[in-house]
Amino acid sequence: MDVSRDTDILICGAGAAGLTLAVDLARRGVSFRLIDRLEEPFAGSRGKGIQPRTLEMFEDLGIVDRLAAAGGFYPPQRVHRDDGTHEDVQDITIAAPTVEEPYRSPLLVPQYRTEAILRERLAEWGHCPEYGTRLAAFADDGERVTAHVVGEGGEGVIRCRYLVGADGGRSFVRHAMQVGFPGKTLRMRAMVADIVLDGLDRGAWHRFNEGDMQRQMGFCPLPHSDLFQLQAPLPFEGDVDLSAGGIQAFVDARLPGGAIRVREVRWASAYAMNARLADRYRVGRVFLVGDAAHIHPPTGGQGLNTSVQDACNLGWKLASVLAGAPAALLDTYEEERRPIAAGMLGLATGLLEKARQGDMRRGREVHQLDLGYRGSSLSLDVPGRRHRFVAGDRMPDALLRGAGGQERRLFDLLAGPHWTLLVGDGGPAVAPRAGVRQWRIGPAGALRGLDLEAGECLLVRPDGYVGAVLSLEERGRLEGYLAGVMGG
Ligand SMILES: Cc1cc2nc3c(=O)[nH]c(=O)nc-3n(C[C@H](O)[C@H](O)[C@H](O)COP(=O)(O)OP(=O)(O)OC[C@H]3O[C@@H](n4cnc5c(N)ncnc54)[C@H](O)[C@@H]3O)c2cc1C
Repeated sequence: MDVSRDTDILICGAGAAGLTLAVDLARRGVSFRLIDRLEEPFAGSRGKGIQPRTLEMFEDLGIVDRLAAAGGFYPPQRVHRDDGTHEDVQDITIAAPTVEEPYRSPLLVPQYRTEAILRERLAEWGHCPEYGTRLAAFADDGERVTAHVVGEGGEGVIRCRYLVGADGGRSFVRHAMQVGFPGKTLRMRAMVADIVLDGLDRGAWHRFNEGDMQRQMGFCPLPHSDLFQLQAPLPFEGDVDLSAGGIQAFVDARLPGGAIRVREVRWASAYAMNARLADRYRVGRVFLVGDAAHIHPPTGGQGLNTSVQDACNLGWKLASVLAGAPAALLDTYEEERRPIAAGMLGLATGLLEKARQGDMRRGREVHQLDLGYRGSSLSLDVPGRRHRFVAGDRMPDALLRGAGGQERRLFDLLAGPHWTLLVGDGGPAVAPRAGVRQWRIGPAGALRGLDLEAGECLLVRPDGYVGAVLSLEERGRLEGYLAGVMGG
């Protein structure tokens, strides 16, 4: 490996955020490098809940079926009482898909499997993360970023147009950018461990001592493996023994009688919970995505999902600017994603408080389907005009029919790196241009079935949000919008 090979985009960190960004850039044919200081991929299960909106993003990236095969729905929670009895509750909503929302329940997939599937997809585009390569320093001269890396092949310098810090909660990139990370330490520590055990059946997520923060613990069976993920609060201070013997003693202290035998520990960690949000997501040519930009407690399963969606928001913008779009487009990344993370911080800490009281219910608020970018400078519609679709909202799926009579899913038409322009009963709205697929919808169009008014134009962004809702008479505004996001 040539340590010093230059590139357009250097991604620092091959976790969920960095890998997602890499897959998106790879399918767009953008030149990038993806480095990680680890010698080999991360092996833990920690972020195991994939929310419906992320499943839609993963469908777009071509991996949702592989993820579904690698995972499963959440099992019921089995709440064990001190007297040896138990009650099963399904506190995570498992809802049937609808046409508009093909994924309505979170999937349980250990993070090591999600990341492996992302790497597999990346390999299909001819790329792989460069492990054992650490970003040690960088400087942004306004034209380029010069990054100093230390790797197997020695030290090297990578010159790139943009650097993306996807390097996790303790982000080196964020520190080096001197970006503040205000928030609070929640004065709570927890253990998370992937263990092989005897004594529990795999049909339920077992919870013991609910509502007692000193003794609470949960064992979640990880699909298609012999592992359980153990999660339990820890005293805020003091050493923790994460060996099999240490975890056995920890479990025995909370569940006397030796009902659970810990046979093996594959991965374990003790972590302090924080809720923090970076003051800025961008300084010059350097960006932050994922945990580097926001950290919150694991309650509600939001961290990995928010990280993946940061990457999906930034990927197409970086690619567009490299292809000639105005650089101001990149400012919309922070404008759109930082408020989402701020909301997430409140949600996850609120759920943590409920969990402390033994209430683990989570509903639609964690699915991320209702999040969007109304009010963003990229959301263009005419104030006061009423439409079924609103600029900034997630575009729902729809069942359409081709002019030849075949069924078509709207999401199949949206999938890929392009923009999609849907024009009600008329058109074309704009002259054909690279990167925009235009469909006429209506009796004389190529597709039927979407509830669009005659002359209504719906522009859907590459990340699946409605960018503009205009009419055919407003072609000029549509052309102007496209010039702002694509150049030309
Ligand atoms: C117990 C637990 C449960 C969780 N449950 C959920 C859940 O159910 N759902 C959910 O959405 N999220 C969950 N999360 C959160 C989720 O794991 C994180 O949000 C997610 O891993 C963030 O991904 P990331 O890519 O931003 O960062 P990371 O996964 O932390 O990846 C950062 C990468 O950067 C690399 N790196 C760091 N510094 C450098 C450097 N200088 N040079 C090169 N590489 C570097 C690291 O080696 C690492 O591989 C959970 C977390 C925990 C701890």
